[in-house]
Amino acid sequence: MSKVVVVGGGAAGMFASVFYAKKGNEVHVLEKNEKLGKKLYITGKGRCNITNACDTEDLFNNVISNKKFLYSAFYTYNNHDVMNFFEEEGLKIKVERGNRVFPESDKSQDVINTLKKAMHRYGVEVHYNTEVKELIIEEGTVKGVVLANNKKIMADIVTVATGGFSYQSTGSTGDGYRFAREAGHTIVPLSPSLVPFNVKEEWIKDLQGLSLRNIEGTIYCGKKKIYSEFGELLFTHFGVSGPIIISASSYVIKYVDKELKLVIDLKPALTTEQLDDRILRDFDSNINKCFRNSLDALLPKKIIPIIILKSGIDEDKKVNEITKEERHNLVNVIKNFELTLNGYRSYNEAIITKGGISVKEINPQTMESKLVHNLYFIGEVLDLDALTGGFNLQIAWSTAYMAAMADEMN
Ligand SMILES: Cc1cc2nc3c(=O)[nH]c(=O)nc-3n(C[C@H](O)[C@H](O)[C@H](O)COP(=O)(O)OP(=O)(O)OC[C@H]3O[C@@H](n4cnc5c(N)ncnc54)[C@H](O)[C@@H]3O)c2cc1C
Repeated sequence: MSKVVVVGGGAAGMFASVFYAKKGNEVHVLEKNEKLGKKLYITGKGRCNITNACDTEDLFNNVISNKKFLYSAFYTYNNHDVMNFFEEEGLKIKVERGNRVFPESDKSQDVINTLKKAMHRYGVEVHYNTEVKELIIEEGTVKGVVLANNKKIMADIVTVATGGFSYQSTGSTGDGYRFAREAGHTIVPLSPSLVPFNVKEEWIKDLQGLSLRNIEGTIYCGKKKIYSEFGELLFTHFGVSGPIIISASSYVIKYVDKELKLVIDLKPALTTEQLDDRILRDFDSNINKCFRNSLDALLPKKIIPIIILKSGIDEDKKVNEITKEERHNLVNVIKNFELTLNGYRSYNEAIITKGGISVKEINPQTMESKLVHNLYFIGEVLDLDALTGGFNLQIAWSTAYMAAMADEMN
């Protein structure tokens, strides 16, 4: 039996503590907040998208950084193991669109309660309002931790599960990166990810609240196409958000300090010719209307003034006076609605932190540091990240399991 200190009572820390304790270890979870799982509580818009019920290949396809590192973790403890765990612990779950797994109650608190109950049952001791300040490392082996009040807690094993750097009000303030750096680890540069973008054009404010479904968004850096996706996009008071934009943020990171162009095809189901025909028909049936009032059937109301502005056609012009050239220009504006992206929103709006402790210095079978004996890192503090859909929590669960089972993996 070992004395295990788990630093951080979030998704990974709680999960690991259950498996450490199940094996008969003395387990202490040190959580700086007054409660466990503050970030878990806000996941999935308060519903907690626990994992994704896809096949294993898709699990890997949705990981963005360092998927190879996760081979052992995902093959040893996969999404179905996670679903079984929660069901066996009494949580009813359901699978929704895109294989997203949620608690049947739609309440993230039920996920937290399930973990808390299991922790209690196996005798995990939780220390609330307990902030770890530093690790105690002697001769290449971790010996315990020093708390913010300078008290020391000695341990045989220390597992750091302090999370990333986003939504810091939940407690993830990046402390684990500091612990790792002080232990000699390399930190791969951090950045917000799964995050909305700012848009340069002033008129973006006029589109606030508009949600566009079934559009195609393509991002260019200069002339280079760096991302393209069909789906849903949302305009906000500062820029763009919504599923395709949030995903895009994961892919375009290395270009983000440059000005990027987002080109939206508002009618991807129609070719240029088909759209031109459609507009011609609309104009024919509105022959005496002015241009301003002729697009209602084709486009959402909010975007029409911007389309008119970009088309360069006088809004008071009668549709039967619009030239072929002007109409072609209008088609082009609708198929290539262009915006300038000038940077990500902050960590406060980022679902995850990209970067973190270099996985080159972590044993993928056990999550143990290759630099410091008996020191483990799990969850978002590692340089691992995935798309939305339950995949980031799957990383937390799988890496937590591997650490807790480390003695069996070696
Ligand atoms: C708004 C939002 C929605 C999300 N929705 C989903 C979703 O539906 N599905 C999904 O898969 N992922 C989702 N994520 C991502 C997911 O929540 C994280 O990837 C996951 O919580 C990471 O788990 P973790 O245990 O590594 O870190 P966290 O859950 O952040 O836990 C870290 C814990 O460590 C504690 N801590 C930090 N420093 C110290 C210290 N020095 N001493 C003691 N304690 C400390 C913190 O207080 C915190 O409780 C979402 C994230 C956000 C922000």
